[in-house]
Parts: sequence; structure tokens; C-alpha cells
Amino acid sequence: MYNVMTAGPVTVSEKVRMARSLPCTNPDLDRDFYDYYKETCELFEKAANTHSHQALILGGEGILGLEAACASLTEPGDRVLVIDNGIFGEGFKDFVSIYGGEPVLYTTDYHRPVDVEALSEYLKKDSDFKYATVVHCDTPSGILNDVEEISKLLSSYGILTVADSVAGMFGEPLDLSNSAIDILCGGSQKALSAPPGLTMIWVSDRAFEAMENRKTPIASFYANILAYRNYYNSEFPYTMPISDIKGLRTALDNYFEIADTTYERHARIAAACRKALRTAGIQLYLESGFANTVTAFVVPEGLTVAELLSELKDDYGILISGSYGVLADTVVRIGHMGENAHTYKVAPVLAALNSIFKKHGIQLACDMQEVFLKEMEA
Ligand SMILES: *Cc1c(COP(=O)(O)O)cnc(C)c1O
Repeated sequence: MYNVMTAGPVTVSEKVRMARSLPCTNPDLDRDFYDYYKETCELFEKAANTHSHQALILGGEGILGLEAACASLTEPGDRVLVIDNGIFGEGFKDFVSIYGGEPVLYTTDYHRPVDVEALSEYLKKDSDFKYATVVHCDTPSGILNDVEEISKLLSSYGILTVADSVAGMFGEPLDLSNSAIDILCGGSQKALSAPPGLTMIWVSDRAFEAMENRKTPIASFYANILAYRNYYNSEFPYTMPISDIKGLRTALDNYFEIADTTYERHARIAAACRKALRTAGIQLYLESGFANTVTAFVVPEGLTVAELLSELKDDYGILISGSYGVLADTVVRIGHMGENAHTYKVAPVLAALNSIFKKHGIQLACDMQEVFLKEMEA
């Protein structure tokens, strides 16, 4: 077994794994399961601090939420503002076009979060959009966008907001009641620390209305959010993956047990990890806007991304993430979210990186593990 320290999926606790092996009922016919599902969704509403969204669990990996949001809102010819300062941000353009929309990219520097002022200036000139997409933590770089403020700005122009917080929420605070987010997307396998396989979405009344007022039908069955709206008084659109949902519920119960300390824990681990890398002279990818769930750094000269990842894996049994797109050849990422946001999980990664860098003749200004541990003690 590898020590999985990637930017998701993350380590899954034994409690969550055991919950997935509990006895199963027929989730289509047993009304007790409908109650269990509903109660779990209500807990997700509580976790995101909202009374004005309906949370739903969809049977499919995190990408399903992004696609379902675009499938359910987009009608042919709709203009959609795709806010792009990262790989997932840009990726939304594909979901928009697949469903016949016209994506309009608002692209900004990948090293910095979206500047709400600059976006406001842009919208003064062009605001004719049905909805906009934005990513909370864009994982390939680890950038964190202020989706609460961005959604409020968009809403002032009557633009709906789809926000991807798959790799943000449960590691970064997100308060739906202090936002104008219409569809929030989350996933099971990031900071919540359940295995991959499930999507959570939070849907506002405005978003449901937009779906109900469409002139054309939603061009998908599996990605149709409306098909879920009244599940409790009728039935699920398809058979729910009951074991996955039991695991997810246990992970959510775990989150509530530690919720009052979890964000500070993530912030401390992330700050200490960045400090260790920087003090050693390793360049972080971002200039500002660091998320607390993942740290991306530039692989120093003398070593390739592929060499670094395979030495970590083969010689130390540690998996960390490379990156994607324009970042693929230069950046690697340490995931420190959920079950991985602990000193004992991150310290060995820095120790192994330290040894590999030295072996390849890369000068380091400190011992990274030492600096990390000192920060965590402070
Ligand atoms: C992980 C992730 C998703 C889900 O997609 P994967 O197939 O798990 O990569 C969506 N958005 C973001 C920002 C993610 O980090």
C-alpha cells in the first residue's frame, strides 16, 4: 500500500471503509433508505450553512456534478461566462459547448486568484450571461478563489453561479448563506475523505426555476438535476449506490465531529508545508491565493516531474500528484486535505523530497521536514 498524499483521492479511514460493508437493502423500494438519503442531504445542507439550497447526492464521481450543472442549465445558444484562472476553470467551457451553449472565457493569470474588482469592470461592459462557472480551489495549481464574493457580484447582474468546490469544501470554509451560489459542486474523494464515486450538489430555488423554465428539455438523463428534485415524494431517477452513500454519510459524521478545528488544522498544515518548501529555496507555483488543501511547487532544475514522482513512489512508497495541461511538465502537488491534513502524514513526504533533491545535487537551504515540524510545534 502506498502512502497516498495526492490532491485527491485521499486516505480513507477504516470507519468509512467499514461503513461501506454494512448490509444493503433495496434502495428503490425500501422507504427507510429514502429517509436515510434525505437526512444525509440535510446534513450536507447544514455543513454548507444553508436553508435555501437543496443538497443532493448523485451516483457518479465528482465530474458528474460539474457536467450535471451545465447540462441542466444550458440551452442551445445560451451565453455562459467561464471564469478561467486554472485548468478546471477552463475545463467548464467543454461542458457548456457539449450542451449547445456559447462559452465566453474570462481568463486571468493562473498564479493569482480572480480579482473581484477587475471582474466587476469586465461585467460593466458585458454581462449578458445566463450563468457563470467558477472554481473555488482549482486543484492543478492549488489556487483559491473567493467564490462567495464572486457569486454576489454575478448575482447583481442576474447571472447565476455554478461553483466547483470539489477540492475546496470541508478543507476550506464555505458559507452558502453568505453567497449567491446557485449550484455548488462537491465530491466524495477530496477533503471529506470518502472514496471516489459520489457527487454532492447544492441547488438554489433560482437554479431549479431556471431548469423548470427551459424552452428545450434537458439533453441528458443521467446528468438531469431536475429528475431528482422530488425524489422523496416519488422515486430516485435510478438505483442509488447504497454502500457508497453509507461510506459518505460516515465521512460526513466524522467531519461534524471535528468541524470546529478542521479549518484551522488545514490552514496550519498548509502554511507549514509552504514555509518548509520556501525556506529550502523551492519555488511555489502561485504568487498568492494559496488553498489550504493542496500545495503546488515547481520541480527544481536537475530533476524532471516524472523522475521525482517515480522515485517518491518506488523508493519511499509515497504517491503525490503531477499536474495537468500547461502545468504538467513543471509542477507537482502535495495534497494535505481531510485525512491527509496531519503532521504525521505530511512530514514523511517532505523528508523524502528532501532526500531526493539532495541525491540529485539540488542545494537546499534547510531540512524541509525539520522546518515543517518546528512550524507545527509553534
Ligand atoms: C477532483 C476534482 C474534480 C473531480 O474530478 P476528478 O475526476 O476527480 O479529477 C472536479 N473539480 C476539481 C477542482 C477537482 O479537484
